[in-house]
Parts: sequence; structure tokens; C-alpha cells
Amino acid sequence: MSNHVIDEARRCLQCRNPKCTEGCPVRTDIRGAIALLKESKIEQAGELLFSNNPLSLVCSYVCPQESQCEGHCVLGLKGKPVQFSIIENYISDYYLNIIDGQTGVQPPSGMKVAVIGSGPAGVTISFILAKKGYDVTIYEGNEKIGGVMRYGIPEFRLPKMVLDRLKTALIKYGVKIRPNTNIGTNLNIDDFFRDGCKSVFIGTGVWRPNRLNLPGESFGNVHYAIDYLRNPDVYDLGDTVIVVGGGNTAIDVARTAIRKGSRHVSLVFNRGAEHLTASREEIEFAKIDGVEFVYNKSTVRFLENGIAVRDCAESENGEILEGEEESILPSDSTIIAVGQGPRSVIVSSTKGIDVNGRGLIAVDESGRTTRPGVYASGDVVTGAKTVVEAVKVSKRVAEAMDEYMKSLP
Ligand SMILES: Cc1cc2nc3c(=O)[nH]c(=O)nc-3n(C[C@H](O)[C@H](O)[C@H](O)COP(=O)(O)OP(=O)(O)OC[C@H]3O[C@@H](n4cnc5c(N)ncnc54)[C@H](O)[C@@H]3O)c2cc1C
Repeated sequence: MSNHVIDEARRCLQCRNPKCTEGCPVRTDIRGAIALLKESKIEQAGELLFSNNPLSLVCSYVCPQESQCEGHCVLGLKGKPVQFSIIENYISDYYLNIIDGQTGVQPPSGMKVAVIGSGPAGVTISFILAKKGYDVTIYEGNEKIGGVMRYGIPEFRLPKMVLDRLKTALIKYGVKIRPNTNIGTNLNIDDFFRDGCKSVFIGTGVWRPNRLNLPGESFGNVHYAIDYLRNPDVYDLGDTVIVVGGGNTAIDVARTAIRKGSRHVSLVFNRGAEHLTASREEIEFAKIDGVEFVYNKSTVRFLENGIAVRDCAESENGEILEGEEESILPSDSTIIAVGQGPRSVIVSSTKGIDVNGRGLIAVDESGRTTRPGVYASGDVVTGAKTVVEAVKVSKRVAEAMDEYMKSLP
């Protein structure tokens, strides 16, 4: 593995205008990190990556590199691109062990900040503001930090140990973590301002599964993807499982069900293969794992022993046209994976925070909500995106929160 890392680093052409960096949403200085690694300056390489993206280790596991850094590498035009993900993984893994919580930290500002949610958005904000000298507390509804990184992305794609190590690093930077604390059900945003916080950040993600609103959706053998992935071990799905959906979450569910012992897992999608929104790599892995793909079947009802479907096709204007006849696809359990939306518990318990038509928090380009001092970013603002996109926007929002707090009388 380590030799492979060195070989990949040696293949890097150190381009004058690195396309890999252009392809990265957080503009990682890939050329610089590789040059430092080759000079045996791994600590500096780690600091370079971490200070630009505190989730660089997570990103090395879960970023869609094929369409980002690696997809833009010039070597990929005629052959294999430099596999930066393994280089980033090696450097960031090393660096997370030696973080001291002091490098680049500014003197205490004496100002308190509340961060609601510990997904990629909340963790990014917390690291940046803690380094700027703020007294940061994370309020997390779950018992452990990480958000979707812990309770959505399966262990075989992102080892949870990485998140435990991020928690240790947060604590080294002086961040306090209050787990099992769902804001909006008991404590609310007004309590934070009453207790001296100068600014509040909302990074609560999208955790309300979209429904299909079909008969049978409340049956005991029908589940929602995001609920299942939270703790697959408590489900008894049986041998034959149908996953309804065509995105990365559907693929994660299918691959997890297979790993948890289900023998026949199929993904039922109401369009053709070319419309799957899951990444090419994830689809290939799912096929290797034994997931069967069933296309152009529209689910019309859930049954105790399967689902009722109709054949469907797409019209020229993209409309899905269903045939008349129903057929039954048998299954012991069915899991619905058709996206998630935001929960409304915070905005309904706090005055002055506007949401858009989809229930997502309305913000300006700096993440300011309609209530002064309250900021938001990540999926709760953009809808379901990616880890690196949450990091990208949260970096901007952290700067805006800093500016706001510095401007306070
Ligand atoms: C199954 C699945 C697989 C994915 N795979 C990938 C992938 O491979 N690569 C990739 O880049 N992206 C992936 N994503 C998307 C990515 O994980 C999200 O875009 C990202 O996690 C969003 O970050 P966030 O901080 O906005 O929200 P989240 O990660 O959702 O974190 C929000 C946090 O807020 C907490 N919270 C919510 N409400 C409250 C409250 N009222 N009080 C206190 N805490 C609260 C939640 O418990 C959670 O910890 C995947 C998503 C899913 C669902």
C-alpha cells in the first residue's frame, strides 16, 4: 500500500496549472501536498490538507474523485490519472494522529458559538471557529458525532474509527460536544442567545425520508433507507430484499443488506440504466456484490410479500408513462430510497428563520439566515449533496460568522 502511494506520488507531473485542483470543490493544493510528501515533509503536507479541508481524511474515502481531482488529471487523457485519493488518505491519516490542537490557533476571543449538528458542515465550522479562538459547543441529536458520515455511509466505505479520531481532534481544539441533545424539542435557539452565544450555526442536514405515498407504505416489512442505514443490525430483512430507488443511497442500502446476510437483493428503478443517479463506481461495486438491477418498473403498491409494479417508459418530454398491467415482484422486505428532506423541528420552535418551498433554510451567499446572528449550511440549505460540498460552503460561512462576531459592539 505505502509503495503504491509513493509510486502514485512519483507519477504526478507537477503541472504548472494543475487541473486536479480545478476539479476539486475545495481547491485542494494537490501539487503542493505531493511535492511535500516527496520531500519527506509529511507533517507540512498534512497541515496543508487539513487547514484547507478538516475533512480531508473523510474525503479521501468518500469523494467522487472520478469526477473531481482524479477526473481532471491530465495523465487521465491518455492513461491512468494519478490516484490522489490514496495519497490524500496516507497523508491525512498520518496527520490526524499528530494534531496538537495548537497549530495556527488564535488567542481566545471570549465569544461563545453554538453549532447544531455534527455532520460535515458542523464539524468544518467548529474546527475553523475554534482555530479563530471562539468557544465552540456542538449540540448533536445523536450519541456520536458525524451525521451521515456515521449514520448513513456504511462502515465498508468509511470506517467509523475515522470519525472517532475527528472527535478527538475537535476536543484538542477545545470544542465541547453535547451529545443526545436534539435542539428544538427542548432547548432552542433563543436559549443559546440568552446564555451568551454571539452566533448560532445550523447544520442539521436532511433526515426526513421522502415518502412514495403508496398503499402499503406503513406495512411492517417496508422501511426507509436512511432509517435502515442508521443501524442495519436491528433489522431482520429476510432473504429477498427490494430496494426502490436509483441513487447512491439505494446502492448503499443494497450493498449493506447483502453484507448483513440477505441473499437476493434487487434495486427496482422506474427509469432506464442511463438515468441512475448513483456513481458509476458504486454501480459497478453493487453488481460485483451481487445486486440485481431491475429497470423501467414503477412501484404502485407495497405488499406483505413484495411489491406490485407496472412497466413504464419515458416519454419524449421526460414524463414517466405507466402501462396498465400489474405484476408482482416478490420480497421479504422492501426499502424505499427516494431521497430525504429537512425536518422542521428547529425552524418551527424558533421565530424568524425562513425556509423555502422545500423546507430548506433560506440563506444569503454567506449563509446568513433571516434571523441576525444565525447561520446555516450543508444539506439543510442545499438539499442532499456531498461531504466536500458541505465543507466548501461551510468554510465561507465560518468566515462570515467570524466577521459578524467581530463587528458586534
Ligand atoms: C446513504 C448516504 C450515502 C452518502 N454517501 C456519500 C459519499 O459517498 N460521498 C459524499 O461526499 N457524500 C455522500 N453522502 C452525502 C453526504 O453525507 C451529505 O451531503 C453530508 O453528510 C451533509 O452534511 P451536513 O453536515 O449538512 O448534514 P448531516 O451529515 O446530515 O449532519 C447533520 C447532523 O445534524 C444532527 N441534527 C439534526 N437535527 C438536529 C437537531 N434538531 N438537534 C441537534 N442535532 C441535530 C444530525 O443528527 C446529524 O448529526 C451520502 C448521503 C447518504 C444519505
